[in-house]
Amino acid sequence: MSCCTLCERPLDVDEDPLSGDCWGCIGLIEATYLKAEESIKFVELEIAWGWREENGAAKPQSVFLADPDLCNTGQRLH
Ligand SMILES: [Zn+2]
Repeated sequence: MSCCTLCERPLDVDEDPLSGDCWGCIGLIEATYLKAEESIKFVELEIAWGWREENGAAKPQSVFLADPDLCNTGQRLH
């Protein structure tokens, strides 16, 4: 299993919608530093779905594994 080099999150975990290519990190970087409009929109949605903290930080993978329905709250974008 591969892990994110930034946050060490295990990648490509089915129950974790933020684990693809570590969208947890990449989405926030794109939204915060690159001001990528699409990423800003996605991150805002993911905060609303409870996948991220209010500051955009990805919730830990353990949160998703503990609540398999959480990834059904929204739409997997990555
Ligand atoms: Zn990461």
